[in-house]
Amino acid sequence: MKLVSYGARGWERPGVLLEDGAILDLESATMGRITTIRALLETGKKGLSLVADLLRTPQAERHRVPAETQRLGPPLTNPGKIVALGLNYRSHAQEQNVRLPRKPLLFSKSTTSLSGNGDPIWYPRDETRLDYEVELAFVIGRPAIGVDPAEWKDYVAGYTVINDVSARDAQFSDRKWFRGKSYDSFCPMGPFLVTSDEIPDPHSLRVAATVNDQPRQNSNTDDLIFGIPEILAFVSRNITLLPGDVIATGTPGGVGIFWDPPRCLEPGDTVTVTVEGIGSLTNQVSTRDVLEPSPYPHPRG
Ligand code: MG
Repeated sequence: MKLVSYGARGWERPGVLLEDGAILDLESATMGRITTIRALLETGKKGLSLVADLLRTPQAERHRVPAETQRLGPPLTNPGKIVALGLNYRSHAQEQNVRLPRKPLLFSKSTTSLSGNGDPIWYPRDETRLDYEVELAFVIGRPAIGVDPAEWKDYVAGYTVINDVSARDAQFSDRKWFRGKSYDSFCPMGPFLVTSDEIPDPHSLRVAATVNDQPRQNSNTDDLIFGIPEILAFVSRNITLLPGDVIATGTPGGVGIFWDPPRCLEPGDTVTVTVEGIGSLTNQVSTRDVLEPSPYPHPRG
């Protein structure tokens, strides 16, 4: 299934994208019991299979919404945490001439940085080196602590795409990554959360980024240094992961800052990041004229 959060920013409702392109509204189909995709994931595999059953019933017709006119926000509108990996593709380590890490390198992105497909990426104030990073992200489906890597599949509800937008000036000058990775709009996510039954092997998916239709990143998740089993075991060794938590697996070579000369993002640029079989996100870089608080995280509209 392709799970979505659709509607205006900050007012998204949970849904399932159907094969004919319409959306099944999950909130009305469950009589108000499920108000977010995170809430659905919290019901576990049982809840997901109930939704799959529901799609096959005639009653599903009543909860259909035409999708063409709907904005797709981040599928998770209120994740508890967004964990990200730095330096997790061989090609990305090579392009900056650094050694491969011996263990996963973790950082966090703020949940207020979330945005959806088609939303603007705000060009930050006081920054000049804005960058894109295509990433495969996986989403946790059940509480996890001390996960055995051999059992990783039991914990992954599905996959989505993120653009780990980065302000390189802040990232490099701080020598800590939180600030430069967490500005409002720096985490476009989606457009779908594709359930894991539809992705037999997440370690052989093409990942790509373009800027104004020009290729910038072109790689495959088979170049990951640490795969999902190792990442999950490593993170959950001492950190509890909960349903709806998002883990971004890192980006391959080809980010703007390491081109020679660098090719960072400017206002007006359009970035598309794609993971094969999961989806594509397109966002345009814009200056931010009006300062409004981020609508994320929100548990419901
Ligand atoms: Mg990244």
